[in-house]
Amino acid sequence: MLHNVYDVTVIGGGPIGLFTAFYSGMRHLKTKLIECTSELGGKITMFYPEKTLRDIGGITGIKGEKLVKQLIRQAQTFDPTICLNQRISDLERLEDGCFLLKSETGETHRTRTVILTVGAGIWKPIKLDIPHAERYERGNLYYSVDRLESFRGQRVLISGGGNSAVDWANELAPIAKEVTVIHRHNKFYSHERSVSDMKAKTKVLTPYTVKALHGDGDVIQSVTVEHAETGLTKRMDIDALIVSHGIQGDYGKMAHWGLDMREERFVVNHAMATNIPGIFAAGDAVTYPYKLKLIAGGFQEGPVALNSAASYINPNAESMAMYSTHHETLLKMNHESLY
Ligand SMILES: Cc1cc2nc3c(=O)[nH]c(=O)nc-3n(C[C@H](O)[C@H](O)[C@H](O)COP(=O)(O)OP(=O)(O)OC[C@H]3O[C@@H](n4cnc5c(N)ncnc54)[C@H](O)[C@@H]3O)c2cc1C
Repeated sequence: MLHNVYDVTVIGGGPIGLFTAFYSGMRHLKTKLIECTSELGGKITMFYPEKTLRDIGGITGIKGEKLVKQLIRQAQTFDPTICLNQRISDLERLEDGCFLLKSETGETHRTRTVILTVGAGIWKPIKLDIPHAERYERGNLYYSVDRLESFRGQRVLISGGGNSAVDWANELAPIAKEVTVIHRHNKFYSHERSVSDMKAKTKVLTPYTVKALHGDGDVIQSVTVEHAETGLTKRMDIDALIVSHGIQGDYGKMAHWGLDMREERFVVNHAMATNIPGIFAAGDAVTYPYKLKLIAGGFQEGPVALNSAASYINPNAESMAMYSTHHETLLKMNHESLY
């Protein structure tokens, strides 16, 4: 089959993949973005479309879905090819030095360089380890919060101690009738400010775990929680149980491409280069000392990876794109109306 050869193929259409695709266009590189789900936006779209993000430079607060919308519009500025519903699984180095990427569904893509912005791969929430708990997933047992409004007036129990649990507790506090947060440890793993807000706005029980679910098989009516040290239990009537015990990622066959990995992430150097020449990576997919596991960190890494890809394709290429203020294409656009 004859292939169109791309300069850069970004695998993963999360926030970092989208921004990297935009930056690739700024550098006049022929760009393709491949995402395995039917929607762009990565974890924001999957986990927290309605959460307000407040830790992105220059943006005082923005809903997740709005940020994704803006990232998509920005990514489309230079008209990259965007492919959805294709999980890239195989990689082959061709004789001319290009890569041939193959998806699980059989599509192939030819490219000079690859930028991996695949996050943790295909994610799955860590489920509640209680027999038959999955039956309640069609009722009121949730592993993510899609619509805050659907919890209005409810008694919500949140189990978990990380960022998501704390954020959801804070977002739901003004909407729900009552929010209780239980966590198996006394310490919460989130921003101090968010934890203190949560403690002020919700009922927090630590160290507690969910021990049993009571309901009719479709809807949970009450939950038994157990003190992790004393073993004492109490039963709580609830309308919704949100479990936020983390997520497990799976890179599938990508984990066997020969890329160096540590702590289940791809190892990159300061240039965001992996150990395979021509393959770069950015965002949640990477690990290196002092890695900032935030969107702000990925917004720096994507352009660095892209500049490295540009130098790999042409060693005489400029080390970075010109400022956006001086960019011909961007100058021709009325930016205020676009963004
Ligand atoms: C609940 C929650 C709240 C958060 N709040 C904040 C916050 O307030 N501020 C902040 O800065 N960060 C926050 N984060 C972290 C932030 O979401 C991540 O840092 C960010 O999403 C990383 O973006 P990414 O593009 O690297 O990866 P992801 O968002 O994970 O996107 C990766 C994409 O790659 C796709 N993909 C994976 N494998 C393949 C494959 N083989 N082929 C094709 N596509 C593939 C996935 O489907 C996904 O769309 C939060 C995270 C969570 C879970």
